[in-house]
Amino acid sequence: MLAAFASAAPDAIVHIDGGGRVLFWNNAAEKMFGYSFDEVRGKELHLFVLPQEYHDIYRSGIKKFTETGEGPAIGKTYESVAVKKDKTRFQVEISTTAARLEGNWHAIAILRDVSKTKAVENSLRESNILLMEEIKKRDETEEFLRESQHFVQSIADLNPNVLFIYDLAGHQVVYSNRQMLKILGYDSSEIKKFDNWTLVKLIHPDDLPSLISMKERFLALKDGEILEIEYRMKDSRGQWHWLRSRDTVFTRNPDGSPSRILGSALDVTEQKAVEKALLEREERFRKIFEEGPIGIALAGRDMNFIKVNPALCRMLGHTEDELNSMSVADISHPDDMRLNIQKRELLYSGDIPYFQMEKRYIRKDGTLIWANLTGSLVRDEEGSPLYFLGMIEDISARKKVEEDKALLAAAVESSVDAMTVAGLEGNIQYVNESFERISGSTKDEMLGTNIKDMTRNPGQEASFEDVFNATIRTGNPWTGRFQINNKDGVALMVEETIAPVRDYMGQVTNVVVITRDITEKLRLESIAEAVNTMDNIGYVFSGIRHEIGNPVSSIKMALSVLKTKMESGFKREVIDTYLDRALAELSRMEYLLKMLKSFNVHETPELKDVEIIPFIDNFHSLIVEDFKRKGIKIMTSIQPGAEYFYADPRALQQVLLNIVTNAADALKDRTAPRIDIKIVKMPGHILIHIQDNGCGMTPNQLRDAFRPFYTTKPEGTGLGLMLARKMVTKMNGTIEISGEQGVGTAVDVFIPEGGDGK
Ligand code: ADP
Ligand code: MG
Repeated sequence: MLAAFASAAPDAIVHIDGGGRVLFWNNAAEKMFGYSFDEVRGKELHLFVLPQEYHDIYRSGIKKFTETGEGPAIGKTYESVAVKKDKTRFQVEISTTAARLEGNWHAIAILRDVSKTKAVENSLRESNILLMEEIKKRDETEEFLRESQHFVQSIADLNPNVLFIYDLAGHQVVYSNRQMLKILGYDSSEIKKFDNWTLVKLIHPDDLPSLISMKERFLALKDGEILEIEYRMKDSRGQWHWLRSRDTVFTRNPDGSPSRILGSALDVTEQKAVEKALLEREERFRKIFEEGPIGIALAGRDMNFIKVNPALCRMLGHTEDELNSMSVADISHPDDMRLNIQKRELLYSGDIPYFQMEKRYIRKDGTLIWANLTGSLVRDEEGSPLYFLGMIEDISARKKVEEDKALLAAAVESSVDAMTVAGLEGNIQYVNESFERISGSTKDEMLGTNIKDMTRNPGQEASFEDVFNATIRTGNPWTGRFQINNKDGVALMVEETIAPVRDYMGQVTNVVVITRDITEKLRLESIAEAVNTMDNIGYVFSGIRHEIGNPVSSIKMALSVLKTKMESGFKREVIDTYLDRALAELSRMEYLLKMLKSFNVHETPELKDVEIIPFIDNFHSLIVEDFKRKGIKIMTSIQPGAEYFYADPRALQQVLLNIVTNAADALKDRTAPRIDIKIVKMPGHILIHIQDNGCGMTPNQLRDAFRPFYTTKPEGTGLGLMLARKMVTKMNGTIEISGEQGVGTAVDVFIPEGGDGK
C-alpha cells in the first residue's frame, strides 16, 4: 500500500542510502527529472539532479549525514535548484526525513516543482513595485514636465547641430533651434513664416532632386529609423553650406503616415573643404609617385624595398615585382655603398634630417647610370622611423655633359692650335698652352692684356680690330690670315678664326680666337702649289686663251679695217699705224710662245755640281751691258765658303734672269736704281738673295706674285715668277719674295749645296 501510494503520489519521492545511492524513485520523480528508475537505481543521486556547482557542498553534507544521521537539510523543507535530464533547470521545494535501517542512516526526500508558483509570485511582486512607482511618478509629473521641457530646450540649444521640425502637410519648418540662426542666419520665428517655395529656393539646385526623392523613403520610414542625407543650403548672406542631416519621423497622422519630420543637421562645409583638399593632396602625391619623372622608393631598415614607383622601374629597367624583392645593395655600384650606408646611419641616428649624394645605379642590363639620391626617413607619430624614403633623379645626362666638358677642356688645353678667350672689349681671359708656344709669352703675361693690342699685320683687307668687332656685331665667325711677330720678333704667318661665344640666351658674351701657325704649312704649300699649278691644265689654258686671244682679235681687227678701207684710198701713214699695231701684237705672241717653250725645255732638270764663282761671273757678264744702258747699278758678292750649287745651270740661269728682269722693271723711273746679289752659305743650302730698291710690292701682290698670268705690267706675261718657282722646286729648292711698297723687293732663292757639302 505504501508502495502504491508512493507511485501514485504527485510529488517526487526519492529514497537514498547513507552513501547517497538511489534505492527508490517513484513515477513522479521519473516525470520530473526525465530519468527512469532503472537509470538511476543504485547510483549517487546528486549526479543526476543537482547542478554541478552544488556537488561539493552536497557531498560534504552526505558524509556528515552517514556518520551522525544529521545534516542541515534533514527534517526541513527548503527550496533549491534542480536539473532535468534535458539540462533545463527549475525550482524545487524539498522535504527530507532521516531513517535508520539495519544500523545505517537512510534519507527520504519529497520534491515538488515550484517553478510556476514562483513565476506568479514574482510577477505579483513586480507589479506591486510598479504600482508604487507609478503613484510616486504621478506625484512628480507636473514638476518633471516642467523640468524636462527646460531640459529639452537646453539640449536643443546646446546642440551644435541645426535641429528642426518640418511639417510635411504645411511645407513649413515649425521648429528650429538656435543653431539655425547661428549657422544659417535664420531666426526661428522668421523661418517659420517661410513658405514652401522660399524653402525650396534655399536648397542648392543640384541637391533638390535627391531631397525630393527622399519623401518616398520618409513614407516608408519606421519609428526610430533614421535617414541620412547631404545637401547644400544657402544662408541669409547667400553663402552655401554643406549640411549633413539625420532625419527621423517625429509625429504621425492617425493613418500612420508621417506628419512631421525631426532633423538634425551638421554644418560640414569646412570638413568637406578639408576632405577635398586632402583628396587633392593625396591625388597630387599619387600623381607624383605614379607619373612623376623622379624615381621614388620606400625601403626598410634592412634596405629591402617596400614600394617603388614606375619612374624608378623605368630608370633601372626592372619591373615593380623584381625591385620589390631586391635591396638597395642589389642595384647600387659597390664603390658607392659605403658612403650610402654611412649616410643612412646618420639619418637613423637622427644626426641629419636628410642627405643627398650622387651615386651610380646598376640597371638590369648591367649598364650604369648616375643619379642624385635624396634620402630621408618617414617617422610615425612618436617619431620612430617607419621607413626610408629615397628620391632618385637620373643625372646621367648632366654627368655626361660634365665629362664632355672635362674632355673638351683637356682637348682645348692640349690642342696644337693656340686658343684665346677674350671678353667683348678684347681683354684676354684665357689662353691655352699652345698659345704660349706660338706667341712665346706665358699665360700670366697674357691674362688681362688686350688681344687687340697684339701687333697683327693684316694679311688681307681688314684689320684684326675690325673683324673682331664685326664678329661681336654680326655674331658670325670669321677666318683669315695675319702676320704676327712672336716675342723674339720672328714673323709668323697665322690663320685665325674669330668666333663668338654665346650664353644660353643666345647673347654673345665672349670671343674665342683660334690661332694656327701656318708658316711652315705655307712653305710646304707653296712648293706643292708650284708643282701642281702646271698640272692644272684648265687654269693654264684659260690664261693662254686670254693672252693669245687678245692679240689675235686685235690683229684680226686691224687686218679687216685695212681690207675694207684699201679701195677708198687710205693714207700711207694710216696704213702703217695699223700694220705696226698688228706686228706688235704678233711679237708679243712670239714672246709668250718662247716663254712657254723655256718652261718645257727644263721639264726634267739635269742636276749636277755647279761651281758658284764662275757661274755667277758668267751671269753677271750676261746682263751687265743691258743694265748699264738702263742706268741700273748691279752688285754681286759671294760669301766665302759658298762653293757649289747642286743644280741645272741652264735652269738656274733662267730663274735668275727672270728675277733680275722683274727688278729692272721695278726700277724704272727710280732714283739711284740698284740691284744687290748676295750668295750666302747656309747649312745644306746656298741662299741667293736678290735685293732691289724699286717700287716694292703690296701684300696682295706678294700673295699673288707666283700665280700664272698674274701681272701688274701692261706688257707682262705673269709667267716669270711662276716658271722660276717651278724650276727651283724641280731642283729641290725654294723661292720666296718679300718687300715693302715704295722701298724695294727681295727675292730669296734656296738651292741645295753641291760639292763636298752635298
Ligand atoms: P711679269 O714680270 O710678266 O709681270 P712675273 O711673274 O715675273 O710676271 O711677276 C709677277 C708680278 O710680280 C709682276 O707683275 C710685279 O707686279 C711683281 N713683281 C715681281 N718682281 C718684282 C719686283 N722686283 N719689284 C716689284 N714687283 C715685282
Ligand atoms: Mg717678269
